[in-house]
Amino acid sequence: VAMTSDCIFCRIAAGEQPASLVFESDTVVAFRDIAPAAPVHVLIIPRQHIVDPSSLDETSAPVMADMFMAARTIAAQLGVAESGYRLVMNQGQDGGQSVFHMHLHLLAGRWMAWPPG
Ligand code: 5GP
Ligand code: ZN
Repeated sequence: VAMTSDCIFCRIAAGEQPASLVFESDTVVAFRDIAPAAPVHVLIIPRQHIVDPSSLDETSAPVMADMFMAARTIAAQLGVAESGYRLVMNQGQDGGQSVFHMHLHLLAGRWMAWPPG
């Protein structure tokens, strides 16, 4: 599915819903999380409506690579490449997924305790 009009992240990717964008490419969009869990909290999404990591298939490899390369670029751009960051992707109920358009969290700017709460 290229675009789902009732999906909040599809709407952000299409420019129909405001967001604080930090990165855009042909395949990926990234923006600040509306409820940041760290001083730097960016969500990296595919433009394509992929529901969750369990929905990935053999055609998904290029966009997954693009998401991780975007994370690398954004970390450098926001000045946290040296201090470090955490990349998180949640799957389903027990994973804590609340938006069903797959996204990679980039968290930085503080020590990330482990395990997370
Ligand atoms: P999940 O819990 O699905 O892994 O992460 C969803 C994230 O999306 C949450 O951290 C939440 O704060 C963020 N979020 C939900 N709705 C919006 C929105 O409309 N705009 C932005 N920028 N972030 C959102
Ligand atoms: Zn979507």
